[in-house]
Amino acid sequence: MSIIIQKYGGSSVATIEKLEAIADRVVKKHAEGYGVVVVVSAMGNTTDELLKLSAKITTTPPARELDMLLSTGERTTMALLSIAIQKRGAESISFTGSQSGIITTDSHSHARIISVRPYRIQDELERGRIVIVAGFQGTSYKNEITTLGRGGSDMTAIALAGALGAEACEIYSDVDGVYTADPKVVLNAQKLDELSSAQMLEMAQHGAKVLHDEAILYAHRHQISLYAKKSHVDNSAGTYIRPDGWPDHILKNAEIKPTAIVSAKKAMYLSCAIASPESWMAALETCEGIKVMDMSVSGRRAEALIDIWNCTDSRALVTKLNLKENDIADENVLNVTMIGDDLGRQPSFIRKIHAAVQSVSVEPLATFIQPNAVTFVVRREDVPAASNVLHRFITD
Ligand code: ADP
Ligand code: ASP
Ligand code: MG
Repeated sequence: MSIIIQKYGGSSVATIEKLEAIADRVVKKHAEGYGVVVVVSAMGNTTDELLKLSAKITTTPPARELDMLLSTGERTTMALLSIAIQKRGAESISFTGSQSGIITTDSHSHARIISVRPYRIQDELERGRIVIVAGFQGTSYKNEITTLGRGGSDMTAIALAGALGAEACEIYSDVDGVYTADPKVVLNAQKLDELSSAQMLEMAQHGAKVLHDEAILYAHRHQISLYAKKSHVDNSAGTYIRPDGWPDHILKNAEIKPTAIVSAKKAMYLSCAIASPESWMAALETCEGIKVMDMSVSGRRAEALIDIWNCTDSRALVTKLNLKENDIADENVLNVTMIGDDLGRQPSFIRKIHAAVQSVSVEPLATFIQPNAVTFVVRREDVPAASNVLHRFITD
């Protein structure tokens, strides 16, 4: 039997009318011969409302009790949907996260799934029943109810898809898939027919709510076909999230392994007050023979590390950039840059390499962090020591 997981988010189950419409669709899918598991979120803004209720009592509720409270939102939906399905003459049963065998860590409010033991779900599917699961929750190895963090029902759906060997996991929301921008903000945003799961992860990590970031990662690791679709429309084509485009260490859940340590031949470190970001960029644009290696602008200050190997007159550069007395334009520096997939996103790793540089008595003047590169700006004479100590992260 081919198993399909459908997850319906808060807005899709916000009213009884919407729940009944979902019951119709689910029953239809089941009649086509699929084993159907439906994961549901809390209705509408229920989770926010529950949080508000607790906040009326205290701003610091005990984490355990808050999870007990929040888990009820999804439980209400699961029972109501099962009632609606059975009214239609189909057989169904609802399960909490705990009954579904979702075992988590014990960190309340942001628990991680450790394992999924969906034996009861498998039994019920074999009996021909539609299974409804309360999303966003599990049970810790200490037998306590836990929740998976905001938006965590996506995670429930993907984890069950993996454990049940589902053919596909469909995440239904109020939009017809993943768009080039939030369609509620950019009105002519365009729907993407497909995109790589690596790109989708970037989007999710930067706040595009449509799919939960950890769910995307999990789907990729378990090679689950993931679709984002719109509920309450016929034949939503949606977006297919293609499982590719990933750096090795993420797939293998391994330690970060940097690829190389590099330095320029001649560089200038700039730290200056600016009139506006536009004027600063415009001034940089007019400078010939430079390459910006790293840059950051914050309010009326800018910092940059530029490669000036091809710049014949660095004094002219300083004039063009209109630097003032307290600004810094230091040519006695170079970058020592560590290159590696995703290393710039790992605070613990950056802390380690920073400490390594300091351990050879080098104090970086500045640090620039990009997703795939971390640059220490150091005195020229410190380049060999810093490079060698950082290189140990590649060889050790
Ligand atoms: P659900 O409650 O069903 O889990 P979410 O609210 O988590 O749904 O996700 C759907 C919302 O994601 C949409 O209503 C939309 O406003 C928002 N969103 C943000 N960025 C995007 C994007 N790039 N493409 C599609 N939706 C997006
Ligand atoms: N109900 C939870 C929330 O609002 C979980 C979810 O919807 O995925 O965050
Ligand atoms: Mg969501």
